[in-house]
Amino acid sequence: MPKHHDRRALPPEEVVPFHDPNSGARGVIALHSTALGPAAGGCRLWRYADDQAATVDALRLAEGMALKNALADLPLGGGKAVIRLPDGPFDRTALFRSLGRAVRELNGRYVTAEDVGTCVADMEVVAGETHHVAGLPARGRGPGGDPSPWTALGVVQAMRVAVRHRLGAELSDVTVAVQGLGHVGYALCELLHGMGARLIVAEPRSEIAARAADRFGAMVMSGRALLSARADVLAPCALGAVLDADTVRGLRASVVCGAANNQLATEDMAERLAERDVLYAPDFLVNAGGIINVAGEYLGWKAAEVRRRVMAVGFRMEEVLARAARDGTVPHHAARDVAMDRIATAPRQVAVAA
Ligand code: NAD
Repeated sequence: MPKHHDRRALPPEEVVPFHDPNSGARGVIALHSTALGPAAGGCRLWRYADDQAATVDALRLAEGMALKNALADLPLGGGKAVIRLPDGPFDRTALFRSLGRAVRELNGRYVTAEDVGTCVADMEVVAGETHHVAGLPARGRGPGGDPSPWTALGVVQAMRVAVRHRLGAELSDVTVAVQGLGHVGYALCELLHGMGARLIVAEPRSEIAARAADRFGAMVMSGRALLSARADVLAPCALGAVLDADTVRGLRASVVCGAANNQLATEDMAERLAERDVLYAPDFLVNAGGIINVAGEYLGWKAAEVRRRVMAVGFRMEEVLARAARDGTVPHHAARDVAMDRIATAPRQVAVAA
């Protein structure tokens, strides 16, 4: 009998609100699960209507991190910190010091890093208060620093498997439409071009798009048109929620495999894509390279170990395709089931100190 896990949101282990009267910082740390190790996930600084909205977002993001980390076979649970962006001017250093103290009080049960709205300099402030932080500048040849090249390398591994599975082709035979030439998208184009793939790109910063046309011979299109471009693979590397009923209807690619987080506007798009015979490679499997690099930094792995684990994103894709075929489901749900199996069967861990 196929074994599916409940697809509703799971209850979090702990929600820790924090408020620092000196900086005015208000936020929340959500620990979704520490079954596999310390709950790891970045800190988002964003404008929220109220504490409730910030908490709901932290819980959603923490669950996503638990699934991503488990699927990547990392000895890490899932968590997230969310800080409400103050309305007026604020002391940024004081704000991140207060986050650092809140993280320290969790004694290694939560590890933070950058996310939307936060940067390396903020994490360096956090590091003044606690060891349980990653996303710091790389030391020597070890892991750390910009995770984007690792994310791009992982995307290529998953894409190679997806293209073989769906099209019986190699990356050198296909046209890939890349939406967004930011940190990950541009690195992905470099790798794919090196492997002989043809490229179509969309990027609002016209000078970057022109550089891709020049260096990679890429055809440039508008962001919207790219979603229905005549390509074999669509690689969303810009925004979330790009796959809605409209874009799925207009897709001409047979494979969707990119770095953007939360590509499905709604969960049922996973089935809609399958009905259109499109192989959707689950985003939280495909884009794990960045968190693998962060894990390597925190846990003290060598760069070679990070590389080995990023290359294994391709094996993970094979595992998920096999599970989907066995269970008669789509890869997106199968990936969640694989992750949930790992969390459900994990022995309880003690926190790992940096
Ligand atoms: P980025 O901000 O560097 O790049 C995003 C790019 O998309 C920018 O160049 C932007 O101009 C472009 N863009 C914006 N709107 C667009 C549109 N409508 N059409 C085409 N391009 C558009 O971000 P990034 O670090 O490269 O990350 C890209 C995506 O991958 C994000 O969703 C991010 O959450 C996800 N992700 C990134 C990493 C990582 O290691 N950086 C890891 C996991 C997931």
